Amino acid sequence: MYERILIPTDGSKVAKAAVDQAVDIAEKYDAEVHALYVADTDAISYSLGTEQVDRIRQGNFEGMTELREEAKAATGYVAEQAAEHGLESVEHHAGGQPHRLISSYAEDHGIDLVVMGSHGRSGVRRALLGSVTERTLRSTHVPVLVVDYQGTDE
Ligand code: ATP
Ligand code: MN
Repeated sequence: MYERILIPTDGSKVAKAAVDQAVDIAEKYDAEVHALYVADTDAISYSLGTEQVDRIRQGNFEGMTELREEAKAATGYVAEQAAEHGLESVEHHAGGQPHRLISSYAEDHGIDLVVMGSHGRSGVRRALLGSVTERTLRSTHVPVLVVDYQGTDE
């Protein structure tokens, strides 16, 4: 049923809660785990030059230490959890609009399940779903499991 599971993550607590569920499902199906971190160019481009934004769009975060660390920590957590359960994993870093890249990654890599958090880093619970999750649901045909997390932080 599930051969390749995609976990889009911004490294937040809620995304981590989704990782636990995803890894558990992956273990049951012996699925390959894909972790995707997207640098949101709409959110960060105002402070960067066009050359830097172009590089980020190509998934090249060289020279941007903070971004690289955040990306590595986010997908690294997934890889660690996968390894602990004896599962193969793939880490991918990209730049652009998160929901677009999540949807196209799912399509391009034969993903058969996306597991993501209801909320993310913004931590504001003004809506039932964060905008990345809502837009992903609206832009993919792949099944999406949305994991809520009731904690108060992040
Ligand atoms: P908003 O961003 O709309 O202010 P939020 O940060 O609370 O709200 P989302 O950004 O929609 O909520 O995050 C929901 C889930 O989407 C996260 O738990 C994570 O699984 C995924 N996600 C969010 N941002 C990214 C990203 N930059 N790269 C990969 N996955 C992401
Ligand atoms: Mn967010």
